[in-house]
Amino acid sequence: MSLLLKGCHLVDATSPEVRRDQYVLVEEGTIRHVGGGRPPAADHTLDLGGAYLLPGLWDVHTHLRTTTWTGPSLPSDAPEAIYSYGWCAMEALQVGVTAMRVVGIPYWADVAWRESFNSGQFSGPRLFCCGHGLRTSAGHDPSGAAAAGLMRSIDGPEAMVQAVREQIQHGVDQIKLVTTGGIMGGGHDVMSAIMFLREELEAALRIARQRGVPVAVHATSHEAVKWAVRAGAHSIEHGYILDEEAVGLMAARGVYYVPTLALSHLTADQASTPYEQHYCQAHVLPEGYRQRANRFAPGHEDSFRMALAAGVKIASGSDQGPPREAALLEIEFLARCGLGAHGAIVAATHTAAELCQVADRLGTVEPGKLADLIVVAGDPLEDVHHLRQLVLVMKDGQVVVDKRRTSW
Ligand SMILES: [Zn+2]
Repeated sequence: MSLLLKGCHLVDATSPEVRRDQYVLVEEGTIRHVGGGRPPAADHTLDLGGAYLLPGLWDVHTHLRTTTWTGPSLPSDAPEAIYSYGWCAMEALQVGVTAMRVVGIPYWADVAWRESFNSGQFSGPRLFCCGHGLRTSAGHDPSGAAAAGLMRSIDGPEAMVQAVREQIQHGVDQIKLVTTGGIMGGGHDVMSAIMFLREELEAALRIARQRGVPVAVHATSHEAVKWAVRAGAHSIEHGYILDEEAVGLMAARGVYYVPTLALSHLTADQASTPYEQHYCQAHVLPEGYRQRANRFAPGHEDSFRMALAAGVKIASGSDQGPPREAALLEIEFLARCGLGAHGAIVAATHTAAELCQVADRLGTVEPGKLADLIVVAGDPLEDVHHLRQLVLVMKDGQVVVDKRRTSW
């Protein structure tokens, strides 16, 4: 069966220019043809009436939380928690997030939902899974996340190797290591603390590399970033406090940077758009976290700009919940903090697909790629907030959201 999407302007995540009056022909879930002029015949045709078509959006740093980190705690009951993760992912698809990388979750729930979405049993985004985050004892623990089973505490190089193997055994796509503190946490749980021994870090990365599994490293200080990059990290998460040497190493080795700007920027004091204000009203942060986020935001932004200037590859990941809200907010932060609309869209599509090693199949609108697409009413290159004017979501060639009747 073929489906023709005609009458659209194309934002294909390869060029900063809109390609006007294009059509996209989808067959068996794959983009067969993209062009202008007279469209080919198809079994079904959707006239998009001058809307903007682009690749589906990604969030490559999520824990599928239905609330913020500091919001009500997760259900402690395993079946209920597992259900809430899937629900959270399905909701994100409804706003145009067609793929996500899950970087720490209990019960290998990400792997289970990945399989159920891939088989078509439920309609959700493509998931790329890390299983549990691996930390050390007395390591990073944002709001009791370790206690909630999202991370495992591992000590010693041999145990670290065993833990990586266990994640692989359960079908993860990548490994997540949590090597430092973060914005949340207190006492010894600070950003400057590197919690891993170098031997533990190197052991984890050595076995992962040997097994062909990329490693995402939560590293907040420049020293921890350098350790991780030198040991062979695939991506650096957060990187709140970078320096020239750290960003130079990341650029030289092609390491991806997922800055998670939402973690430091989403406070009521900093909210500068109606969307941010709405989020901060709906999700009130505890005083301590609010103050720490405000304090770290300027340095975080400087680090991000330093990485941009050095040519580091940036991918969009929110690390905040719920992703149906946070994914778009992160894209808007990336745009505002230096990437611009086109750069932010690339970070949330093409580069995200590269980070998950599927850029040959996903991340742009080009013939031969899988048809994960969104359509929005306004030009997102003119104003990235137009990504919120959602008209249609297609995943794997299937229309999963169609708002044309209500919004036109
Ligand atoms: Zn995280």
